[in-house]
Formats: sequence, C-alpha cells, structure tokens
Amino acid sequence: MADRIKLLPDHVANQIAAGEVVQRPASVVKELLENAIDAEASHIKLLIKDAGKTLVQVIDDGDGMSTTDARLSFERHATSKIKTAEDLFQLHTKGFRGEALASIAAVSHVELKTKTTSDEVGTLIRIEGSEVVEQEVTVTPKGTSVAVKNLFFNIPARRNFLKSNTVETRHIIDEFHRVSLAHPGVAFSMFNNGAEVFQLPISNLRQRIVAIFGPKTNEKLVPVKEDTPVVKMEGFVLKPEFAKKSRGDQFFFVNNRFIKNGYLHHAVLAAFEGLLKEGSQPGYFLFLEVDTKSIDINIHPTKTEVKFDDEHTLYAMLRSAVKHSLGQFSVTPVLDFERDKNLDTPYDYKNKPVGIPQIEVDKNFNPFKESEPGQKNITFPFKRDKTQNWESLYSGLQQQKNLQENTVNLDEIEFESEVVTGSLFSESAAESGQNTFQLHNKYLITNVKSGMLIIHQQRAHERVLYEELLKNITVQEAVSQQLLFPMELTFSKKDVALLHSVREQLEFTGFSFESFGDDTIKVKGIPTATTESGVQIIMDNLLDDLNNEVPDTGFSQNDLLARSMASSLAVKTGTPMGKEQQEHLVNSLFACKEPSVSPKNKEVFITIPLTDLDKKF
Ligand code: ADP
Ligand code: MG
Repeated sequence: MADRIKLLPDHVANQIAAGEVVQRPASVVKELLENAIDAEASHIKLLIKDAGKTLVQVIDDGDGMSTTDARLSFERHATSKIKTAEDLFQLHTKGFRGEALASIAAVSHVELKTKTTSDEVGTLIRIEGSEVVEQEVTVTPKGTSVAVKNLFFNIPARRNFLKSNTVETRHIIDEFHRVSLAHPGVAFSMFNNGAEVFQLPISNLRQRIVAIFGPKTNEKLVPVKEDTPVVKMEGFVLKPEFAKKSRGDQFFFVNNRFIKNGYLHHAVLAAFEGLLKEGSQPGYFLFLEVDTKSIDINIHPTKTEVKFDDEHTLYAMLRSAVKHSLGQFSVTPVLDFERDKNLDTPYDYKNKPVGIPQIEVDKNFNPFKESEPGQKNITFPFKRDKTQNWESLYSGLQQQKNLQENTVNLDEIEFESEVVTGSLFSESAAESGQNTFQLHNKYLITNVKSGMLIIHQQRAHERVLYEELLKNITVQEAVSQQLLFPMELTFSKKDVALLHSVREQLEFTGFSFESFGDDTIKVKGIPTATTESGVQIIMDNLLDDLNNEVPDTGFSQNDLLARSMASSLAVKTGTPMGKEQQEHLVNSLFACKEPSVSPKNKEVFITIPLTDLDKKF
C-alpha cells in the first residue's frame, strides 16, 4: 500500500491551532494586548469595531520589530520569548508559544506596522488567511500596530457561532480589565466604534481599580498584603457589605497573569465566612507572586489556568491573609446609617477638667484569633480605673434614666451585685467566671437584680469608643503615636478636599498630617488605638460617612467623625471575647453617658425581667 501520511500545509495547521487560541474577538484582544506588554510598551491603545468582528486593533509604543522579525512573527512557533524548554519554567513574559499571531493571521485579514528605535523606517505587512499579500517599507512611529480585520472571514461556521455584539463586547472589556489591572504602570485606552470607553493613565493599583470601576470603588477597597518565602500576596478585597450577587469583580493574578482557580477562590470565600449575606459574592483583586519554577502555566492554550506545586499551602496562606486584612481593617457595615438628628447629644467637654489619659494598646490584636481566657485584646483608647467603673456605671444609669426614660425601663435595671458588694459583680461570681457570658460571639449576657441583661457587643464598644473620641475631639486632646515613616494615602481630589475639611478634628483624635496634596495625604501620626494598617479603612469609612451625610459645622461634624471612627475601630460581631474583655466592655459601657443607644442610634442592650422568665416556666 502506498504511504498515506502527509504533513498538513501550514495554513491548515494554523487554522486548526487557531481553533484553540482564537475563540472569539476577545481572544485576539488578549493576545495583542499581551504582546504589547511583552514589548514593554508604556502606552497601549485598543480600538474595536462591531464588537471586534470587523476590527480589533492594538497600537503600542513598545520595542517594535525589525523587518525580518516582523515577517517571522507570523510563523507558527516563532517566538522571541523562549529559546529552550527550560525557559518554560522561568517565564517572565505573557506569550511563549509563538502561536498567537500565526493563528490570528490564519483566520483574518491582518495589517502589521512596526518600527524599532534603531531603524529609520518601519515595516508594513498585510496577511490574509496566512498568505502574505503585501510587504513594504512604511513611515510609522516606534512601536507596533496590529489591526485584525474580518475575523473568521474564511470560517463561516465560527463566525456564525459568535454571540451578539453586546456579549462579545463584554468579553473584550473583560480581557481589557484583566490586562490593564495587571499593569497599572502602563497607560491604556480603549475605543469602541470610535467612542472612548476607557482612558487609564499610568498609576498605582488602587488608582487603576478606581479608574476602571469608578470613584465609588475607592472606599470599598481593603488592602491585603502578605510576604512569605513561598508567596508574595498583594491587592485588595472589597468590603463585605459591597459583595454582589454575581461573581463580578473577582480577579486573581499569578505572576501578573490573570488566572481562574476555583480552589483559590474558595480560600477567599472561606476568609469571608460569616461576613457575607447568603448567596453574595466577595469582590477581590489579588496578586500572587510565586517562584516561576513552582507553577505550570503551560496546561492551557489560553493560559487562564495555572497549576501550582503546593496548592494547599497557598490556600492556607491566602485565606489567612485575607482574613487578617478583614479583621485588621475593622471592616464593618456602614450602610445602615440612619440617624435621628434629634438624638444628637450636645457634648461639651471643653469646660470640664479632664485627667491625663492612660493608653492601652495591643498591637497584636487579631479579632479572628481564638481568645484565651483572661487575654486582653480589645483596645480602648483609655484605661479606666476599676473602682471608678462601677460607680460611674451607676451614675451613668441615673443619667440615662433622666435622658432616655422611654427607651428602657430603667427601674428594672438594678445591678444585683451592686447591693451585695458595692461592685458590679460579686467576688464569688467573678471567681467562678459567672458575671458575663458571651453568646454566639455577638452578645454579652449579664445578671442584673431584676433579671438579665443582653448587650450587643459591637454596638456597646461603638458607644464606648464614640464617647471617648468625641471627648478627645471636643476637649482637643490628642494622643498620637508618631510613625517612623509617613504613610502616603491616595484618594480622589474630592475626597482629599473632604478630609482636609475635617483635618482639625482628625488631629484631635490623634492623627497628624505632614501634608495634603492634590490627591494624596501624608499621615505622620495616628491615634494610639489604631494600627498603621487600619488607617486606610478609617479614612475610607469616614469618607463614606461624610459623603452620605451633609455635615454642617461644629459639633455635628465632630459627632460624625467620632461615630465613623468608632464604627471602624469597634470590636465586631463574631469576635470571641475573653472574660476580662467582656467585663471591661460592660464596665466601660455603663460608664458612658448614654449606654443604651449606639452612635448609630441602635439599641445597645435589652433587659429580660425575671418576672418575664418566671412566666415562661
Ligand atoms: P508569543 O507572544 O507567544 O511569542 P506571538 O505569536 O504572540 O507569540 O508573537 C510572536 C513574536 O512576535 C513575539 O515573540 C514577539 O517577538 C513578536 N511580537 C508580537 N507582537 C509584538 C509587538 N506588539 N511588539 C513587538 N514584538 C511583537
Ligand atoms: Mg503573544
């Protein structure tokens, strides 16, 4: 029998390869954008027409190609990026297969213009379905422009398979987002049918995210940063209250390459556990950097899947890094922000003598750590004297009685132990650890003479912090810790102006500023109850609150600031508290002027009279 095996002609092989690499216009966008990045462009422009079906063009100001390279770039397995198989294990470029241009040229009309810095003139090459139809010298700026026209002109079945323009454009924008997020140091622009869609200047990651997803995003970002020998992680997660129903803004980048990975996604979900509403999805922009030798990105032609050597370790690290950030940055919902102006309390501490505050800070505070009994990990700006506590507790209640008679039935609240020992809790009870009890990491339960008191821990702490902060602001007494290096924070111009308008008050809480720029502020000192990493979230929350309310002047703005910071700093629902912390919080709460309502005007505690309990038995 005669030999039957023949090598496929190049254009057929290319068309087959194209089936893998070029699925839709968005695949062309991805390949061309990545080539421009690999060519070290600093400005990249994307033009599309009819959802990329008529035109996808990418213009860059990168290295460009010599005439020979320009011609070779359309050959299959023609790449300047790897030379040996070993290079595959230390990839620093997006491309490496040398297949993209060949594949694209097999199924479209391509026009390439390119020039290097050293060449006087550039090269123009026109290819239609793998066939070079024109090559000439041309005048063109340094860099490369690749225009891909009439995609799938020679494969009608593929062309008919494309979705509506809306859907295909969506895919293109997704690719544009992925590449531009991974490279904030490169300026990108995008035009759809001649209209500008994105104009992204060179910036940092936060600014890039904001430029893409809109100015409102800034307040939603919680930074994540973790540096270990195995992996470097950096990026942002969105505060849980901004979680969406859809899996919208979820981005993983490994060594600056966008990837999809269900396992790592699950790690982030696990970190958000208990913080999300049923069925909602966290948003994240997370950049992982691992040794190029420890991953295999060669398993999928479009390279959105990556295999890690040690997925389990990555999982654990990612989960804990995100969890840590969410905890450290005291993430708390700020949306349920209704407040009855009539309940504003005109605090005037200005004329009252104030003692020197003592500071108690635990820098290692990690709300997610299981607390050991007796371990103190809630930070209060001021330490209170114990004996003073129970007395003020009582006087607090008395004041309360006069102020808020209709809120709680205060006659019901007589502290049992107050009668017996003169202390809030009887000694024996204290020894047996029976005074307070934490329920579901959310409520503190304690005995009162008339029955039982249930305290909402987060609101209680908010109330305590609020009064302390308000006191600081109004008596203008700052307790500040100076930073070794000033922190620079970036905001929109409008937000910088807003923060500037409350600069004085912020300084009274312990912040000190080096400068207010156009869109940055430099912080050189922070309140003692805060950590450096918590500053951004305090500012973000504060901006949220300032934007949500129209503050007038004077105390009402002070009030807003104190409320906002209290909310950022308070111990959150879901945080386990040791016995001592519980007692400390209860004592501090009842030393407050208005213990029964939170700064957001929510009930802090309720009482259940014994008589009511008796009725149930
Ligand atoms: P790969 O990116 O995998 O190497 P491609 O087919 O995408 O394969 O590109 C082939 C080669 O063409 C690249 O290796 C590079 O040398 C060159 N090239 C492609 N696009 C550009 C560009 N925009 N600027 C400079 N060189 C480019
Ligand atoms: Mg490429």
